[in-house]
Amino acid sequence: MHTNTLDRGIVEKIVREVVLKRIGARPPNAAFTLAVHASARHMHVSREHLDILYGPGHELTPDRPLYQEGNYAAKETVTLIGPRSRVISNLRILGPMRKESQIELAFTDAIGLGFDNIPIRLSGNIEGTPGAHVMGPNGMVELQRGLIRAAIHVHMNPTEAAFYGVKQADLMKLRIGGDAEVIFQRVHVRIDPNSRLNVHMDTDEANACGLHLAREIELLK
Ligand SMILES: [Zn+2]
Repeated sequence: MHTNTLDRGIVEKIVREVVLKRIGARPPNAAFTLAVHASARHMHVSREHLDILYGPGHELTPDRPLYQEGNYAAKETVTLIGPRSRVISNLRILGPMRKESQIELAFTDAIGLGFDNIPIRLSGNIEGTPGAHVMGPNGMVELQRGLIRAAIHVHMNPTEAAFYGVKQADLMKLRIGGDAEVIFQRVHVRIDPNSRLNVHMDTDEANACGLHLAREIELLK
């Protein structure tokens, strides 16, 4: 390398490894900070669709960074129109742009919009999912597919995955303690070197377990 500054990722990895060595046999849940977040309904947008919704060449305006590095809530929103002309307005676009547009709703959102079922899918897997109309200030897109309930999942990097003893696409359990304790049985593992340990659930799931009041959170193999 022709630089004297250590890449931040490398430093973090070293720090994690040092921490791992120090903690020895302590239970895995004490090893890392496990962030559990509820994702409110949102849209991921393709270049082609953003051109139509907001005008040719329009770029997303970051409003607030998300926990996973590089991802952000954009200032841009759209109106989602369901099968019986029911609408969800102010649907937030998350950046950066994606290869294909996709809309993630909680079950309550989907039912309110007039759907009695939309499939639970991992992000990006939208084959055979329903579409909808999406309206922006510049125009309307008829999405052929892309409406999903996002499957509850945990992001982690390879070091964290090794620690938990899990591999890509494994399922883990997430226990949220409290007055209405819930154990999520099918938490999909998504491993990426740039990820931070972080569970994503939707707003229905978060409300069911009282996530905002939770004091005990455990990720289990
Ligand atoms: Zn996620």
